[in-house]
Amino acid sequence: MVLIGEDAEHYVDVVNDACSGLVIGGKSALEEVRRMAHSHPDRVLAVDPWLSEKGYASEEAPFVLEVADEDAPALLPAPTLEEYLQAQIGAGATFATTPTGVMRAGDRRSLKKAIRQVNDLDRDDVVFYAPLELAWFTSANVNGLIGVLAACKHPVAIALADSNGDPYTKVLPALRSVVASLPYGMIWRSDLAGLDLLAHGAKAASIGVLPAKRAAKVPDSIRRASDKTDRRPQVLRPELLRYVRTSYMRDEWYAATEPPLCWCQVCDGREIDRFSQTTESRLEAHRHNAVTLVALIEDVGNLVGDKNWWRDLARDAVAEHTVLGGLLGRKVEPPASVDAFADA
Ligand SMILES: [Zn+2]
Repeated sequence: MVLIGEDAEHYVDVVNDACSGLVIGGKSALEEVRRMAHSHPDRVLAVDPWLSEKGYASEEAPFVLEVADEDAPALLPAPTLEEYLQAQIGAGATFATTPTGVMRAGDRRSLKKAIRQVNDLDRDDVVFYAPLELAWFTSANVNGLIGVLAACKHPVAIALADSNGDPYTKVLPALRSVVASLPYGMIWRSDLAGLDLLAHGAKAASIGVLPAKRAAKVPDSIRRASDKTDRRPQVLRPELLRYVRTSYMRDEWYAATEPPLCWCQVCDGREIDRFSQTTESRLEAHRHNAVTLVALIEDVGNLVGDKNWWRDLARDAVAEHTVLGGLLGRKVEPPASVDAFADA
């Protein structure tokens, strides 16, 4: 599934019904799901549980059901977990996602409490969302994590809550083993590591189209953009298995050589480094990313659990970097994520 912000109608035509759907985020996600379910009743739709990043889970309150707003005191009591989930289904979501608070590494009590509460619901349309701090995946914590998650009778969607960039690469081998241990393990708010985890036994993955949706946030964190003055979009290059900023491609790679052309349904044979910082051009880049991502999901989806095929694809991407380096007359290193995908 592809995870997007609130402007779902820009992406609905790129989603393939057989193996992908739209996960809609942001404060007006429910309204957007309602509209989409009405105009496209055959689409798989889900809500990104955006309240989750507003707080850590505790034993007393493992779910974040409302956010205190000093300017507008709540007139109504907070919804119950059941009401919160039913609102998503009522709006037309294919399944509901729990607004689980971020789980501090090693806090098994809160995680157990959350699972107990969701297991007590008499529903079969719920995915338990588990935003986990990175240190859950250390050797000291990972077996405990597997033990606790095994008690969940619903599908489990794991996200890494981290604001330092590229968290999936840092714990990929441990994450693969956790996902493979679950009867129905999913990955949520991921980057291309979601594809790696599909190849390693995840049953589904939600992958962010925009960079801000490629990891869960830690409460109260402010995500740093790598360069706030450079708003030219990042572009997915499937043969390199990475996103590259347009300005970087133009300045560093294709200043003196011809840029490759992209033949996806959005680009239709135009140059891959053409995007600018206008709203229109950025949207076009995001649509290229969504189309390209869905094509990759389709390929991996047809081969779910085929580790060797994915590893070979990653090794081809490493080789593509060497080819690019040859063209430029200097070494072009693949990013750590691609090396991690190739190492299986
Ligand atoms: Zn394209």
